[in-house]
This record gives sequence, C-alpha cells and structure tokens, in this order.
Amino acid sequence: MHRTLLITILITIHIFFVLGVSLAAEPKVEGSQLVSKRYDEAKFYYNQLQTNAKLSATRDNWLKGTRNFRRIYLSSPKSTFAPACLYMLGRLYRDMFEAFTLPIDIDESVSYYKDIVRLFPQHKLADDAYFQLASIFIKKNEPKKAAEYLVEIVTNYSNGDMHSQAEDMLKVLSKEHDIALPKVMVSATGDNNLSYVLPVKYWSSDHYTRVVIMASGPVNYKEVLLEETKNTPRRLYIDFKDSYIEPQYRAPVPIKDGLLEQIRTGQFSPDTVRVVLDIESIGSYKIFSLPDPFRVVIDVRGKGHEDLEQVAVTEIPKIEQEQQKNKPKLETPSSSEIVVLKPSKKKAVTVSESDTTPSSVVAKKDKDTRNDPKTNPLSLAQQLGLGVKKIVLDPGHGGKDPGAMAFKLKEKDIVLKVAQTLAPVLEKALGCEVILTRDKDVFVSLEERTAIANTENADLFISLHVNAHPSQKVRGLETYYLNLTTNAEAMRVAALENATSTHQMSDLQDILSDIMKNSKIEESSRLAQQVHNSILDEAAAKGYADIKNLGVKQAPFYVLIGAQMPAILIELAFITNKDDVQNLNDPAFIRLLTQEIADGIHNYVSSTTAQFQAFNFTQDEADSGAEAM
Ligand SMILES: [Zn+2]
Repeated sequence: MHRTLLITILITIHIFFVLGVSLAAEPKVEGSQLVSKRYDEAKFYYNQLQTNAKLSATRDNWLKGTRNFRRIYLSSPKSTFAPACLYMLGRLYRDMFEAFTLPIDIDESVSYYKDIVRLFPQHKLADDAYFQLASIFIKKNEPKKAAEYLVEIVTNYSNGDMHSQAEDMLKVLSKEHDIALPKVMVSATGDNNLSYVLPVKYWSSDHYTRVVIMASGPVNYKEVLLEETKNTPRRLYIDFKDSYIEPQYRAPVPIKDGLLEQIRTGQFSPDTVRVVLDIESIGSYKIFSLPDPFRVVIDVRGKGHEDLEQVAVTEIPKIEQEQQKNKPKLETPSSSEIVVLKPSKKKAVTVSESDTTPSSVVAKKDKDTRNDPKTNPLSLAQQLGLGVKKIVLDPGHGGKDPGAMAFKLKEKDIVLKVAQTLAPVLEKALGCEVILTRDKDVFVSLEERTAIANTENADLFISLHVNAHPSQKVRGLETYYLNLTTNAEAMRVAALENATSTHQMSDLQDILSDIMKNSKIEESSRLAQQVHNSILDEAAAKGYADIKNLGVKQAPFYVLIGAQMPAILIELAFITNKDDVQNLNDPAFIRLLTQEIADGIHNYVSSTTAQFQAFNFTQDEADSGAEAM
C-alpha cells in the first residue's frame, strides 16, 4: 500500500517533470499549434454557416460560431490568432445583422472591429478593421464617421492593402457629402504651399456677431451670399484659395443667436477651404481682412442695426431739409409701433399715445423688424449718442503683448491701472455701467476688443494706450478716432498699435472706406476733441502745463474698426520720455487723468444733448422727421 502510493507519486512527479521541461523548451509551438487547430475548426464552422442554408437559418448556430472564436480569444488573448478571432467575430456579427436585422448585432460587430484597432493597431488586420468600420457606417448613412475611419487608413496605413480602396471611397464621400479630404491626399496633388486655416472664433449677441477666421499666411478669399432654398437656409460662404484645414477643426460650430445658426468649415476641394455661415436672420454684413497675423473678420448685424450712419447726429439737418420738400401726412402712431425719446431723461422709453408730448420726437421702428422679438434695434437715444448707459473701456495689450516698454515700465500695466481707476470715476460721473475688455494681465486680440463693445451694445468705446518714440524728447497727449490718414506720424502710431508695418497699413486704407460705413466718425471726432481738451485744460490748471498737445488725429486703428458706437483711442503719454513717465508714476496725475477723461465724456454727452435739443422739434415736424429716417 505504502509502496504503491510512493510509486504513484514518483510517476506523477516524473510526468510533471517531463511535461514541464517539454513546455519550457517549446512552449509557443505547443500552445500555438493547439490554438491554430481550434482556430481552423472555428473557421471551418464559419464556412459551413456561409454555405449551408439550413445551418445558417438558425440564430443559435451563428451564436455557436461566435462562441468558437470568443473562446479561443479569451483563452489566449495575446496569441497571434487573437486579432484574427476578433476580426472573425466582427464579421460574424455583421453577417448576423444582415440575416436577422437585429441592431444589437451590428453594434457588436462595430465593437469587435474597434477592439482590433485599439488592441492591435500594428497588426495587418487593423486597416481591414478600419475599412469594415467605414463600410458599416456608410450603410448606416453616417458618411462623416465612415470618412474618419478611411482617413485613418490613408494617413496611418499607407503601405497597407486597404490604402487605395480607402482613397477611392474617400473621394466618393468627399464629392457626395462635402467631406474634406485628409492632408495626405491633398498634399499628394503636388501643391505643398497651402496656407492653414485655423479654428473659427466668434463673439455673439442677438444684434451683432463677429466671426474671425485666422490663417497661417495671407490668403485670397471670396464670399458668396446664397439665398434660402426649399432645403437649405440662407447662407454666406467664404472660400479660401490654396488653403487647408486640419480635420480636427472641421466640426460645425453651433451659434443660434438669432443671427447665425451655425458655422461649418470644410475642405471643399483639395486646395479650397470653405467656411459656411448658416443664417437665421441678418440685416447686413461686412467682411474684411487684417494682416499680421492674417485673419478675415466678418461682422454680421441684425435687422434694424444695419444702417447706423443714416441717423448720425450730423445727418439731422438733412432730415430738416427733407421736411421742407416733402411733408408727409400726420399719422396716428399706435403704442406698439413707437419709441418716444424724452431728451430730459436721456433715455429711450416706449410709452402709450397719451404720454406723448409736443416736445417729443416720435420715431418709427423698422417695419420689417418691429414684430421680430429676436431683433433689438438701437434706441434713437443710442443712435444719437444720448443717454450713455454703457461704456466699454479698453486697456490696450496684455499678457504676451506688453505694448511699448521703456524705463522698466510696460504699457500693458500702465493702461490697466488707468482703466481700473477710471471705471468707478466714470460710473459715478455718468451713472452708467462700465465694462473693461480685460481686468487682468491677459492677452485679448484687437478684433475681440471691438467685438466685446459691439456685443455688449455699448454706447461708447474708449481704448487706452501709451505711446513710444525713437526720440526720448518726444512727449505729449494725442487722441485718435478711426479714419483714413495721410499723416506719417499718425500712421506710425497706428502701425505700432496694430502690430503691423506701415506698408501693410497703406494696403488697408484702400478697403477701409467701405468698412467704415458703420462707423460714427463725426461723433467719434467730437468725443475725441472733448476728452482731449478736458485733459489738457485741467492738466495746465493743475501744474502739468508742460504736457504737450499733439492734437486730435485720425488713423486706421484695427481696434476701432467695426465699432458701431463713437470710439476713440487715447495715447495718454510717451513711455519713452522721462517727464511723461514721471507723471505716469504719480498717483495724483493718474487721478487727474481719469477725472478729466470722465469730464470730457460728460461734456460730449451734454453737448450732444444740447445739439439735439436745439432743433426743438414740434410734434408735427417730429413725425415727418421720423418718416425721413
Ligand atoms: Zn498701445
């Protein structure tokens, strides 16, 4: 008994030892032979499912087929057969979906193909799996998703057997579904001088939206406005020639602000990027480009906001003339249609008929927009520069852009301090809201600053800067508003603030006249003059008489382009001049500066009101005046 047991144990140990040695010597051959055999059997059963109608009629048999491969995979998930098992599982479930149309089967198929590309991206079946995924999503009528998988093949498996098929399929998708071709296919055309179009940025409100598209270099572009059709909304598209946009930047950008529905971007053809603005309802748009870095700016305005220049203060005499020529009949206004301006209150109010007084001006709202809740036209008060409720203060530069530097000072720090001191002074002096384009040391692009003022529907825009000059002797105050210029010094300052060359600036002047149709040049000029004089007069009275008056000037500052309210840019002092810097370091001077800017703005508002009241309209004239608008 004992002897038998001992022998048994010895034999067992021996067998174990021999097997162990054998496994250690040739483990892979032994293991893979076994897996290979089981894989062949599973494949044989799969082929039977394909050829034997009786066998394939029953779903259970298909499930048995999947179990065969799944068992092999789970027992040796790192064997050389693992990717093939996953691939066969993807195939089986797809066949099952074709046979039984259960959505769960196609989902299973997709997840097995995805497992292959995730777990075995280097395997020769990876690109086949991508191709299978693409074909599934084409059948699912999801061409964009399908294209993503095909792009993987042409980009990362250029030597694989699916490459040319994937390219052909992508070309078809590109044509039929406006899907962009990947960079490798675009570059293959031989033109490697494409500019890169960067992700679209936008700032939005219910009355104004600014869209900015940057590119890696100057690009020729053209815009086309397409009217609404049965199946497509009204849309504005911009084609960028010789351009390419990376696939990750092509997702549609939803906006839905009442003006724009969304922005779509795509590689329209191998060398053309198309940006499409799907329009909900707009009154007008302006498009222009700025250099360094190259960007295209699209300003979209809502209905009732499109033709501001027609009601500028300086246009009032024209209205009077029109009254003389052609006096329309007096209409009885209904309360739902009128905006009544009471100059003494400096704000627009909607009142019932009984509230109208002979001294009031009655203006009719745009007939097309008065019933549209999405549009919010500027009040007459705002259009005339009265009743300032909101001011946007713009401390220049910030973050990576220090502005001018000298005497260990940075322009960005000085103007931020001035803006932060000025804001509460303005709020108190005018009882208005003040918004800063930045309240800390961050970079804000020039086009964003204007966009903030417009989307906020601000009444005034004040940009604060500090000047610099190669000669340390040059000092003084100069105040700018937007316009063309022939003055070399004004051009130099604008080029400095625009971070571009004077050469680029003269190119810009050619197109600026069109852009400026929405700008309030006359009012901006008066605002600049008031603020400028206010600072100089009081500075002289308070012992800063040596501040040089460099005058009110005009120049094409990018930050002022497109501003739909009176807008000025103040160059407070020269950072390169010792005396000016001494003033800037003096808290008393900063207090004086901010107080006088506020006073200047106050004077501007008062003088505008006075100018307005001087017309002293009667009710009758007012009605006809409103008609003329
Ligand atoms: Zn500056």
